[in-house]
Amino acid sequence: MRPESLFPAFVPITSLKGCGPRLAPLVEKLAGGRVQDLWWHLPAGLIDRRYRPSIAEAEPGRIATITLTIDRHQPPRMPRLPYRITAHDGSGELTLVFFNGREDFLKRSLPEGEIRVVSGTIELFDGRPQMTHPDRIGTLEESDQLATVEPVYPLTAGLAPRTLAKIIDGALAKAPELPEWLDPAYQKKQGWPGWHAALMMAHRPESQADLEPSTLPRQRLAYDELLANQLALLLVRRRLKRLSGRPLKGDGRLRDRLEKLLPWPLTNAQRQANAEIAGDMASDKRMLRLLQGDVGSGKTMVALNAMLACVEAGAQAALMAPTEILARQHADTLAPYCEQLGLRIALLTGRDKGKARAALLERLAGGEVDILVGTHALFQDDVAFHDLALAVIDEQHRFGVSQRLGLAAKGQRDKGGVDVLVMTATPIPRTLSLTAYGDMDVSLLTEKPPGRTPVDTRTVAADRYMDVVAAVKRKIEAGERVYWVCPLVEENEQSDLAAAAERHSALKLALEPELGPVIGLVHGQMKAADKDAAMEAFASGATRLLVATTVIEVGVDVPEATLIVIEHAERFGLAQLHQLRGRVGRGGRPGACLLVYSGPLGETAKARLTILRETDDGFRIAEEDLRLRGAGEVLGTRQSGLPDFRLADLAAHGELLVAARDDARLILERDAELAGERGQALRVLLYLFERDAAIQYLRSG
Ligand code: ADP
Ligand code: MG
Repeated sequence: MRPESLFPAFVPITSLKGCGPRLAPLVEKLAGGRVQDLWWHLPAGLIDRRYRPSIAEAEPGRIATITLTIDRHQPPRMPRLPYRITAHDGSGELTLVFFNGREDFLKRSLPEGEIRVVSGTIELFDGRPQMTHPDRIGTLEESDQLATVEPVYPLTAGLAPRTLAKIIDGALAKAPELPEWLDPAYQKKQGWPGWHAALMMAHRPESQADLEPSTLPRQRLAYDELLANQLALLLVRRRLKRLSGRPLKGDGRLRDRLEKLLPWPLTNAQRQANAEIAGDMASDKRMLRLLQGDVGSGKTMVALNAMLACVEAGAQAALMAPTEILARQHADTLAPYCEQLGLRIALLTGRDKGKARAALLERLAGGEVDILVGTHALFQDDVAFHDLALAVIDEQHRFGVSQRLGLAAKGQRDKGGVDVLVMTATPIPRTLSLTAYGDMDVSLLTEKPPGRTPVDTRTVAADRYMDVVAAVKRKIEAGERVYWVCPLVEENEQSDLAAAAERHSALKLALEPELGPVIGLVHGQMKAADKDAAMEAFASGATRLLVATTVIEVGVDVPEATLIVIEHAERFGLAQLHQLRGRVGRGGRPGACLLVYSGPLGETAKARLTILRETDDGFRIAEEDLRLRGAGEVLGTRQSGLPDFRLADLAAHGELLVAARDDARLILERDAELAGERGQALRVLLYLFERDAAIQYLRSG
């Protein structure tokens, strides 16, 4: 049960003053729909109104708060001219200027002959000081409230800065004092304030320096978030490990035969990964292993090896992919091997319905399927295995922890748990992998199969579009195939789609008169069946040029594809570009990648594209990307399945992450049930960051 002290955190923002039906949707879109979402919406800037010069002293261009006597209102003599109000203090005169000023309002707030305080930017007009639209107007009594430092929050269209600041103030007033969950010695060493104080300080910057992620309050808040993340992951992991595994010891007969079937030797990295995985599976502990390998490093073979070991031991294995296309492709890749080995493999996706699906489920439950490949359709309640012992999850960063657990839960309780192998294609820097997986055991495929030539990567300015089209044409005429990837616009599928559709028509016009109908289109909003059809047409050669949004990113294999054009390359993450580039040059013929950018490129964008040109090492690329851009963007958080941190910035707080991991370990070593005083406070922390799903693992299991 959520602790009562946290109730205010989860109240809808509509309960806040000034956040009515018109504004609430805007605030929600910007920060989130609950009061705590506003706690985490930290200022990005500040306005310092503490500068209180006389009129004569005031520096033009600087924000000043000035006390003056109102002299005369001069309403405009013609429409569209400004409304002017003259005023003075002991040092000189100042004109207040209002466009479209409402006379009754101005008369009321700035009455002639009275003293008022105004705050805004002083400018010189014809050598005379004036202030256009003061930000603040108040009486003398209110002057201390005016002359403060105001936080400036990240905004969205339609929401005035002041309005948002007031709503956030209301949210902050509801922040409770919470029990301290940090280790007192560590907190002291870091010099961190308590949670409530840190939150208030983070929202009350006094200078630019207070906005840095390295300030003590921001560090503290970030650490809290990271600690919640690490603690939750550790609880989940401990639970999985504690559920006893079952020793899966195959005799090697299938794996040996597979090796003889393969047209090439396994790489050393593959061999080593196979051995690590087999070791885990043979032990009576639950396997929870991450198989990380760059595009083309041959993860599928490692997965197959693990599944064969499982089948040798008499159990069933499942392989889950994030999309239908990928699931199908995995099934197609594995089927010929399975056939030769006499294994029964089946595919289950969301598209399977009715009788065929029922028949498959029956075979599965009866143990007549050895390897089941599928999408998240594998999670559905009525999918029951005869004896599932290994779940391989080809993640591509798209599944969350809960989904991984979901599949693991499909094993037979009495027989011991399901071993889990997670495959990720994008090399993730260690810091990121920690947040997504905690301390999982990791096997790395650092070496690629021999004989690959790196993809020839070039940058091209967008104004050379016609040259790019000509290059595409030459490839198609030479019998090769080409991907054309359209830009990601603000992660908005609608606009991605529009861009892709438009490019599709333009390329059709440019190329099809000569080449015939060779251009296909695939995007994320197509029905699965249409998507598959478009991919299949490209794979079979019915189409030769495939215009796509980033749906092709995830591991699709078309060996004949030799060129990939990526439009607005500057908008993609490096890791994403690297993934996309990995789609070509898979079939022996060298691949090329044209990164089309719309200039002028900033320094960072330039540095990023250079890295991509210089190296083919996915790990290095990922590290560099993290360094250059910060974690939030590295993998495109929305699609990444990585936790979306609100306070922690992994580029800045990477060390805190490692500390949080160690802290979490120590915490559970000392108080495995989080029962002590600090343990109770840590439970509050988990609830606060909505990692409470992990709390259930404290009791059960
Ligand atoms: P990943 O999933 O890691 O991107 P794949 O498993 O799809 O990579 O393998 C990429 C390609 O390399 C496939 O065509 C596969 O058949 C091939 N391959 C895998 N292992 C080897 C190897 N040891 N030697 C040569 N080719 C290999
Ligand atoms: Mg793959």
